[in-house]
Amino acid sequence: MLKYLFLFTITPVQSFVEQARKTQDLYAGSFLLSHLCRTAGNKIHSDYGGNIIFPDLKNQSIPNRFIAIIDRQEAELKSIGENLQQATEDEFKKIANTVINNLKLTKPKGFDEQVENYFAINWIFLPYNEADYKQCYSDIESLMGAIKTVRAFKQFPDSERGRKCSICGERNVKFYRMTKGEKDENTLKKRKFFSNDVYIIPYQSYNQVSLRHLQSGEGLCALCFTKRCFDKVNIPNYEGSFSSTAKIALFEAFRQLKERRSDLIGILDSDKYEPQGIFILKNNKSLDEIVEESQIKDNTQTLYSALKDFKIGYSPYYAVMLFDGDSMGEWLTGDRVKNGSLLDFHKALTERLGFFANHVRTSINEPKGVTVYAGGEDFLGFFNLAYLLAEMKTLRENYDEIVNKPLKVFFKDEKDNMTFSAGIVIAHIKTPLSEILNWARKMEKEAKEIDNNKDAFAIAVLKHSGEIEKTVFKWRFESNYITDIISLIASEINADSLSNTFIKKLNQEMLRLMDKDGNFTEDWIIKTEIKRIVSRSCMRKDDESKEAFEERKKNIHDRLKLSRLLIHSKSVANFIALLNISDFMARQIKGESVL
Ligand SMILES: [Zn+2]
Repeated sequence: MLKYLFLFTITPVQSFVEQARKTQDLYAGSFLLSHLCRTAGNKIHSDYGGNIIFPDLKNQSIPNRFIAIIDRQEAELKSIGENLQQATEDEFKKIANTVINNLKLTKPKGFDEQVENYFAINWIFLPYNEADYKQCYSDIESLMGAIKTVRAFKQFPDSERGRKCSICGERNVKFYRMTKGEKDENTLKKRKFFSNDVYIIPYQSYNQVSLRHLQSGEGLCALCFTKRCFDKVNIPNYEGSFSSTAKIALFEAFRQLKERRSDLIGILDSDKYEPQGIFILKNNKSLDEIVEESQIKDNTQTLYSALKDFKIGYSPYYAVMLFDGDSMGEWLTGDRVKNGSLLDFHKALTERLGFFANHVRTSINEPKGVTVYAGGEDFLGFFNLAYLLAEMKTLRENYDEIVNKPLKVFFKDEKDNMTFSAGIVIAHIKTPLSEILNWARKMEKEAKEIDNNKDAFAIAVLKHSGEIEKTVFKWRFESNYITDIISLIASEINADSLSNTFIKKLNQEMLRLMDKDGNFTEDWIIKTEIKRIVSRSCMRKDDESKEAFEERKKNIHDRLKLSRLLIHSKSVANFIALLNISDFMARQIKGESVL
């Protein structure tokens, strides 16, 4: 019997996941998409004996597509594809309906249409010539590309008149919670929503829908509401209380607090406090706007006071990191893989990426950070600033150990490497999440554009004042990780043993020594200058002997490898930005900043 290669995809991915106001929305979108793709993948395996090549369906995060080999009659194929598609669409409808039923709401008109019209599911069967997997794989991918171009404009925003959803801005609002001043439902429908098809929940009515699921003044469409309330569906392994950005920013402070006040561990491990409230109290404002229960208010106040008593610093900044395997297209189509071994490579790659994804998921936890998705070659997660640099390096090193090295037997050129590039954004808890994610994508792109070999990272700091600082570097030069150098600079500044004024002085000096094209004529002058400036910016610590201080001043330039860093930077501005980011991180980690 003839075998077939089968490719199945669900789109859109990025907009579905990233239209998010909270980390919970983001996590729900990614989880839901994995769940739907798994539904189809499990079915082709259990009902039709299909053999999935990738991904490994046992992974918690799987991408929006899978590829399988199936051994069936040609006449059956169409109905198999249709059945898989139907099962996936039904599962999504079932989830949306379960949310409504479990919250005991009535479904507003137009809800079903929003749910039914959203996802585009595409699938293809292609006769599989076992002697030439590489060609078949390449054919099926290009066919899918062609189908997607044709159908790309299938989804359009709600064209009906009405107020659009607070999160996606595309579809009409279906659920709304009144604000304090709003009283009359009919007036609202007429004047605010231009539609009767909205389910309106009164201000301070929490019996059915809690504040966590819908804030006052928030209006959500069927999709965004389903994501927000996904914990009502009871799907195993779904985390109903995913850490907020405020909580992630406080992870390290809470860790220190637990060490000093074990009696507070009970509160900290519960969800009976509001992390965002700590920042509100720090700003001398009232908790009334964001917290309804008095117990939560009291606990938040207790934690705030305890942090203050122990002088534990914290910052309203946290980091988002996004990465993606470099040149995955070339790897998957076999351009860089030994002839005749592509199928085995795909199978081995699936396995290694699965190991890596599970490793990532189990190793990134409080207080370090949280994982939104870890699909193996791609990742999205949030980090507490105190752990960001170390975790970046660990991820990059582990990818090398767990994915790259074991797969080398398949590479055409033994010296070739599978790598990834990352976009990192350091942002304030008040900056909208969608804006931060756009920046993270943009930074990932800049990292990949560094040169043909990629293997780089780019960091942007989005300051609350609106100022933006960004830098891009390869992960390593010689055997040094750039992240280690940033850590070192930050810890010198943090420990008050190096004054951050050296950055400004360096910048002025460089500008003076550059010619009109931004080049230096004499490298040794630069090196001498950097050495002089950084050594003069050393500060003597209270407990430091004069000799030790002199020794430190003499060595600091070589220890921080500043001249080497400059040589490996694409420009002086990029180098100075790296130093400024190191300084910014040092101050935030120390917790000096005020909102
Ligand atoms: Zn929406």
